Amino acid sequence: MKNIVIFGAPGCGKGTQSARIIDRFGLTHISTGELLRKEIADGTELGRIADSYISKGHLIPDHLMCEILAARIDSLLPTSKGFIFDGFPRTIAQAEELKKMLDARGQHIEAVVGLEVPDDELMVRLVERGKVSGRADDNPETIANRLQVYHNTTKPLRDYYVAEGIYRPINGSGSIDEIFENISNAIA
Ligand code: AMP
Repeated sequence: MKNIVIFGAPGCGKGTQSARIIDRFGLTHISTGELLRKEIADGTELGRIADSYISKGHLIPDHLMCEILAARIDSLLPTSKGFIFDGFPRTIAQAEELKKMLDARGQHIEAVVGLEVPDDELMVRLVERGKVSGRADDNPETIANRLQVYHNTTKPLRDYYVAEGIYRPINGSGSIDEIFENISNAIA
């Protein structure tokens, strides 16, 4: 199995590129943001808890997020050729937990593809996306919080994965096709 993390700030193109990676490499997509939005749409208790964090641009607590992820991995593992983790991990604690989870299942992360995009471009993209996405967290105030959370809490993971020797930086500005070709080369 080939397990990949797609990493980067909100609006860097993780979702768009994940869809292409799935098509080309046959990986199974696990997007924690999508999982949580589905719980919210279904009106579950978990969705209610998640919404109280997401609507403010805050992260869901690590223990809860890791529990949800482990359950998802277990349900998909028997039929998967490998996972693409999108939006997870977002903290060092989550990265350590992911490593343990995968170890326990005889798996590991092969590469972390980091889509690198300057902040001013992210802001423009997210505000534009907000006009069509219907996402409650794509509004200027929540976007600013999400970018701050990214810089304070998530970006340190870049160095964590550089130290592990599996970080692959990709310039996330440019055409979707061009970025995808660079990602494909990094994965292959
Ligand atoms: P995303 O779709 O990846 O941008 O995630 C949307 C929101 O879901 C984030 O701003 C967080 O509130 C929450 N979320 C998604 N993934 C995680 C995670 N790994 N840890 C904590 N919160 C998360």
